[in-house]
Amino acid sequence: MRLVKHENEVNSLWDSEFIRQHDVAGPRYTSYPTALQFHEEFSQQDYLDAVRRSNHSRKPLSLYIHLPFCASLCYYCACNKVITQSEDKKRRYLDALIKEIRIKSRDFAADRPVYQMHWGGGTPTYFSGPELTELWFEVSRHFHLVDPERGEYSIEIDPRTLDGDKLGLLKGLGFNRISLGIQDFDPRVQEAINRVQPLSQIRELMDAARSYQYRSVNFDLIYGLPYQTVASVERTIEQVIQLDPDRISLFNYAHLPERFKSQGLLPEEALPPAEEKLQILCAASNQLVAAGYVYIGMDHFAKPNDELALAQAAGRLHRNFQGYTTCKEADLVGLGVSAISLINNIYCQNTKSISEYQTLLDADETPLSSGVVLSTDDEIRRAVIMSLLCQNRLLPARIEEQFGVRFDEYFSNEIKDLNGFVEQGLLLGGQQGYEVTEKGRLVVRKICMLFDTYLSQHLQSGRRFSRVL
Ligand code: SF4
Repeated sequence: MRLVKHENEVNSLWDSEFIRQHDVAGPRYTSYPTALQFHEEFSQQDYLDAVRRSNHSRKPLSLYIHLPFCASLCYYCACNKVITQSEDKKRRYLDALIKEIRIKSRDFAADRPVYQMHWGGGTPTYFSGPELTELWFEVSRHFHLVDPERGEYSIEIDPRTLDGDKLGLLKGLGFNRISLGIQDFDPRVQEAINRVQPLSQIRELMDAARSYQYRSVNFDLIYGLPYQTVASVERTIEQVIQLDPDRISLFNYAHLPERFKSQGLLPEEALPPAEEKLQILCAASNQLVAAGYVYIGMDHFAKPNDELALAQAAGRLHRNFQGYTTCKEADLVGLGVSAISLINNIYCQNTKSISEYQTLLDADETPLSSGVVLSTDDEIRRAVIMSLLCQNRLLPARIEEQFGVRFDEYFSNEIKDLNGFVEQGLLLGGQQGYEVTEKGRLVVRKICMLFDTYLSQHLQSGRRFSRVL
């Protein structure tokens, strides 16, 4: 179903020449500072101090739960996952995760409400119905989940791992949002990436999702995969638009087989060259916008009446490790292997090794491996970067009020470059307030990078970041 038709107005928004000129390699700012600043000197005491301060703040909680197993390997995958058929491995992990839930929940004030929870992976739905039920029960026994009418409870779904009945079970547990890994509908592309899931299967799931009245359905798509062309991706997008998801994430595939071995199994000669990839991105994005989707920023599109678009318009959008979120003022508690938490002024991450994760929990220890305590400067810069990314604006008076600094003095070096972005058409305004233009939103991380004090040190050390291409 098309939402709005205003193709003449919007078809020129995504413009390959503009992106070629302005796209730079840089962090995606799901956090600031980025995870590159996490270090192992971060202590259990740092964590507990932050939890204590956060209990005084009385902010609500947001939970992230990581379930790392998958039944088979998608060759493009760069996630932290384990391919297994072993029921024992899943059971042992689930036991450790439940223990972490029990241990961590004791530190938080019991009445702090949880308004948001996300289960990601791996493939959460690779766990059986009874296992997922057990996990939901344990979470709700140890954290104060608000009822699903008021809370946002989402789960990532591999369509190959569930049917309408399991979707009904998830709704019955309390999930009200789902995210389906689609990637591409072209059979040739699906075979090349080792992820075959026919359009008819997705159609059935969408019918079931609508009948169970999920509040929001997200599709994950990827551009830059083998055998994709502008015409083939346009066909996929047309099919996506007909299926009518509420949100769409359009991710860039970065081919790094030296880092992610399975990517070496892809037919390299069939990958679209950089110029074609850029054409694909622009064509697909313009098609989505022409169909009425709003570009939220950094890979994300949503229907104008979806909560993500409404939250952005109302200045309530935030960004965390799962991308954009409407739950702004919450402390994020990460549970499971490699999960990241944001509590008060710290970020911390659980160990990335499943065996270490389980061993630490066997010994009743919190499975933390690294983290960072934010300085005041980090907090100021984080507020600036998140405002640019989520609200598409930067209001110096608000930063001054929040942190008691003079913006023009504090950022005297950055202001010159900000004005340069005004001249380039990426920003509007001046010291009273800056607004990211429509075009500027396509390359907004270029503006954010101006405020990142750690960036030059990472670039000097040879760290590679992703580009739009
Ligand atoms: S893409 Fe998803 S389902 Fe496929 S291997 Fe990676 S985590 Fe597992």
